Amino acid sequence: MLDKVVIANRGEIALRILRACHSLGIRTVAVHSTVDRNLKHVAMADESVCIGPAPSAQSYLNMAQIIAAAEVTDAQAIHPGYGFLAENADFAERVEESGFVFIGPRADTIRLMGDKVEAIRAMKEAGVPCVPGSGGPLGDDPAENIRIAREIGYPVIVKASGGGGGRGMRVVHTEAALVNAISTTKAEAKAAFGNDMVYMEKFLENPRHVEIQVLADGQGNAIHLGERDCSMQRRHQKVVEEAPAPGITPELRAEIGKVCVEACLRIGYRGAGTFEFLFENGRFYFIEMNTRIQVEHPVTEMVTGVDLIREQLMIAAGQKLSIRQEDIVLEGHAIECRINAEDPESFLPSPGQVHHFHAPGGPGVRVDSHVYAGYTVPPNYDSMIGKLIVHGPDRETAICRMRVALSEMVVDGIRTNIPLQQRIMADVGFQQGGQNIHYLEKRLKEQKEKSLSIG
Ligand code: ADP
Repeated sequence: MLDKVVIANRGEIALRILRACHSLGIRTVAVHSTVDRNLKHVAMADESVCIGPAPSAQSYLNMAQIIAAAEVTDAQAIHPGYGFLAENADFAERVEESGFVFIGPRADTIRLMGDKVEAIRAMKEAGVPCVPGSGGPLGDDPAENIRIAREIGYPVIVKASGGGGGRGMRVVHTEAALVNAISTTKAEAKAAFGNDMVYMEKFLENPRHVEIQVLADGQGNAIHLGERDCSMQRRHQKVVEEAPAPGITPELRAEIGKVCVEACLRIGYRGAGTFEFLFENGRFYFIEMNTRIQVEHPVTEMVTGVDLIREQLMIAAGQKLSIRQEDIVLEGHAIECRINAEDPESFLPSPGQVHHFHAPGGPGVRVDSHVYAGYTVPPNYDSMIGKLIVHGPDRETAICRMRVALSEMVVDGIRTNIPLQQRIMADVGFQQGGQNIHYLEKRLKEQKEKSLSIG
């Protein structure tokens, strides 16, 4: 087993990683910025190192400082969490070159998946169903691009190969708009990602977002842990996630899961990972692979009973996967609500001091949050201050438990999106399940127009 791990992240995920480490008897080093001295996990870690000022570029993205922290504390491994350096292939490479274990996939796997054109090519070869598309980068010949778009059929979406976070994409409805859209997306991609490679896909009009969680040890063993539905989104940001996805039959799950497992084995994947799919008319279309632990991993943990961060640590320690596919049995239903420090109407961030904090409880309720009474949410980072996760024997019970848990939760002093989450849980369409990725924004728009609450 590993002896000491540097947690190169902050907030709820840093605390989550610390808990997994301590439960395995692994000592922890918290690295933090100057405004993050009072983070909960910093107090709980065996050691802590301040790695720089508040701006992430000088702290949580500062590779040299993080590696130096591992050196001075004599740690063995670095867990990147999500965001920040989690999917930075150069960081993974530098960590390993410095003699530490990067808790994640090999650098070349991260690099492959970060290049969407290459990732799609690799997945297609591995038999993963992809969105019909150009199958490669678009060239500069307008006639050829028009031909490709006709073949795919409008609407199409032009996407930057180096894009991420929902940026670098443009939907095109007509041939007249195509050539311009390609050159604009290219220019934007060049400016934003330093890479002007773009590709084209069929634009699916009403898909759901359904993703498959995998674990692989890089030693010939891989399993899938079923799917999550993350269709409740606003501006491509997930707001609510659940497992299993409504309406996915065991046969369909087994089929797509097997495809993902085979792809993992083929590319020699190591660690936890997620295959993201758009799901429309009963079919899966691969869009990208995330080579890290995700925010929404707890819903999978609740229905499978597997501690995914613990598995990441074991895999990083060089152990073979101890769980077999037949051990994965989904039980009941889990829902996660992201709790953000933001105005529930305007969505503007609401940093500041939390005066009172009360976490809900009861059967099947889990709170992953670093917040405590007196804690000040800094304005420098993501506004997510925690996650409320519930588990129940079925979806209906899970929704009921979530409604009670949200009503119990108190975060005073700042504004949070708890009222929005309550409205989502009370919404008839959400309760029906299986809504597409546009549903939430559509309901928010209707609500704004009518000034009525959703539900
Ligand atoms: P990113 O890495 O920026 O998140 P993705 O490829 O995962 O990029 O796409 C982000 C989102 O954009 C998807 O969740 C979906 O909402 C939308 N999207 C991407 N590709 C398509 C497509 N072919 N059809 C419809 N929507 C798409």
